[in-house]
Amino acid sequence: MTKIHELNEVLSDQIAAGEVIERPASIVKELVENALDAHSRQVDIIVSQSGLDSIRIIDDGDGILADDVPIAFKRHATSKISSREDLFKVQSLGFRGEALPSIASVADVVMTTSTGEGAGTKFQIKGGQLISNQPAQARRGTDITVTDLFFNTPARLKYLKSPQTELTQITDIVDRLALANPAVAISFMHNDREILRTPGNGNLQEVVAAIYGISNARKMIEFKGEDADFSIDGYTSLPEITRSSRQYISILINHRYIRNYQLTKALIQGYGSKLMVGRYPISVLNINLDPVLVDVNVHPAKREVRISKEEQLSQLIAATISKRIAQENLIPDALDQF
Ligand code: ADP
Ligand code: MG
Repeated sequence: MTKIHELNEVLSDQIAAGEVIERPASIVKELVENALDAHSRQVDIIVSQSGLDSIRIIDDGDGILADDVPIAFKRHATSKISSREDLFKVQSLGFRGEALPSIASVADVVMTTSTGEGAGTKFQIKGGQLISNQPAQARRGTDITVTDLFFNTPARLKYLKSPQTELTQITDIVDRLALANPAVAISFMHNDREILRTPGNGNLQEVVAAIYGISNARKMIEFKGEDADFSIDGYTSLPEITRSSRQYISILINHRYIRNYQLTKALIQGYGSKLMVGRYPISVLNINLDPVLVDVNVHPAKREVRISKEEQLSQLIAATISKRIAQENLIPDALDQF
C-alpha cells in the first residue's frame, strides 16, 4: 500500500485551471487567442451577464479535424509546437495546450467546428466529463460556447468581482487583442449591446478610433523606429491628450499583448517633461522581434515575458518617441511660458 498517487485527469485539469482561468476575461482571452492562431479573419465575441451566463466565440479559422477534437481537450495537447526548439521560438499565441482542458474542467463547453472538408463535429464536455461527440453540419471555423462557469469550483465563483468589474476586464482584454490584430475583424457584443467592432482592414488607427474614440485617434501620432534587433511602430497621443493611469498604454510584442514596466517607462520617458506628473499618454506600441529574443514561457497566462536586450529595446523606444514628439512641437520651448 502506497500513500502517493497520481491525480486523476479532471482534478489535475482543475488545478491547472486555477492558474490559467481566473475569471470570465481569461476565457475570452484564451478562446480569442485560439481563433487568432487558427488564422481567422473574423472573430465574434458574444457575452451575456459578464460571462457568468455565457461566453461564445465564433471564428472563421482553420477549424479542427473530427478526430482531433477530443485530443484538443486533453491536457498539454497542442498543434502549435512539437519540439524543444519550437518552445524557444514560439510564433503562436498559444502553445501550452492548457486552455481547452482547463476551461472544460470548470464549465460546460459546447464546440462546433469544421475544417471545411467532410463533416464537422459537435462536441460537448462539462466538468471534464464528455457529454457528447457527434458529426454536425457546420461552416469552416469554430464556434464555442462556455456556460455554467465555475459550477464545480464554488470558491472561484465567490472570488469573482461585481458584474461591472468582470465586464471591464473582458472589455480590456478584447481591446488589447483588437489593437494587436488590426487585420482581423473583431466584434464584441454584451447582453445584445455592441461594445466593439473593428473593420479588420489592417488599419491600426481605425482600431484606435473604435476603442478610444475618433477625436482621440485624430490626436495620436504615428511613430516608427528600428535598430539591429528590433523594429517598433504604433500610435501615441500628443501631450495634450493624457490619462491618469498607464493602462491606456498597450505594449504588443509580435501581436501579443504583454505587461512590462520597463518598456512602459521607456515610452513615458520619451515625452521628457512634456507630460505632467501623474499623467500618461494613450499609446499602442508594436514591437517586432525575432521570437528567439523573447521567452513567453514565464507566466501561465503569458502576460509577462522575458525579453533579451530589454535595455537596448527601452532605449530605442524612448529615443523614437522623443524624436517624434519633438517633430510635432514646432513652437520653441522658450515660448511655452507665454
Ligand atoms: P494551445 O492554444 O496552447 O495549443 P488550447 O488548449 O488552447 O492549447 O487548444 C488546443 C488545440 O486545439 C490547439 O493547439 C489547436 O490545435 C486547437 N484549437 C483550439 N481552438 C481552436 C480554434 N478556434 N480553431 C482551430 N483550432 C483550435
Ligand atoms: Mg490556446
